[in-house]
Amino acid sequence: MSPLRKILFCVAFGVVMTLAGLEAMVHALHERVDWPYWAFAVISPAAVTATISIVLVRQIEANGRLAAQLLETQSDLLARASRDELTGVMNRAAFYRDAAAYADEAPACVLLADIDHFKAINDEHGHAAGDEALRLVAFTLRAALRPGDLLGRVGGEEFAILLCGLPFGLGMAIAERARGAIDALEFLSPDGDPIALSISVGVAPYRAGWSLDNALAQADAAMYGAKRSGRNRVHAAA
Ligand code: GH3
Ligand code: MG
Ligand code: MG
Repeated sequence: MSPLRKILFCVAFGVVMTLAGLEAMVHALHERVDWPYWAFAVISPAAVTATISIVLVRQIEANGRLAAQLLETQSDLLARASRDELTGVMNRAAFYRDAAAYADEAPACVLLADIDHFKAINDEHGHAAGDEALRLVAFTLRAALRPGDLLGRVGGEEFAILLCGLPFGLGMAIAERARGAIDALEFLSPDGDPIALSISVGVAPYRAGWSLDNALAQADAAMYGAKRSGRNRVHAAA
């Protein structure tokens, strides 16, 4: 109901109730009431209820706006609490929470991707260049995934991925595509020097109800296998 309708409804209600009371009195006392009294019985409650209802309706409308703002702020805060500030992907806590809640029947895969020789980027080109590399890798990983897949930054230069509803073979293919996309990036330092970016990835199967920690531990072991084999490659969990 619009604010004006609410006010008109209150005014009409006040007037009708007063007229009904006056009519009942007239009936009971068998008295004649002159028209000025009837007019007063209309104007007086109309003025009082109009004033009160305008104040109340304004207050209710303001409360409604405040409640909507609070809800918006709350959902904004929740979204911020789930995001990694630097890269904009999920933070560690949000990734673990949502990945552990994976409930689809279909098999899934977890990936752990670690940027290769990242410390050297910081050391040779500065921390800001390292931060920029992290943003670029996160963006490229996100672009290589489907909208429903989960991507979180779970360590300094380490990302975890949940490929929802994908059998292991396809998970390996997506991991390989993501690795290739990062290998193909042309990233420049602030001085314009090219910086090679690559990731080593471990892939492990995962299903609803399985232990996420266990699947991530397997992916982690596979990722370290990829590091030992020379980096910039994808390894499957044994
Ligand atoms: P590897 O190929 O074996 O993974 O070597 P690495 O150099 O990538 O790994 P290492 O663990 O030796 O170094 C990771 C570095 O990541 C060290 C740390 O300073 C850096 N790092 C962690 N978080 C951030 C961040 O938010 N920004 C930047 N610029 N660097 C970060
Ligand atoms: Mg690394
Ligand atoms: Mg690491």
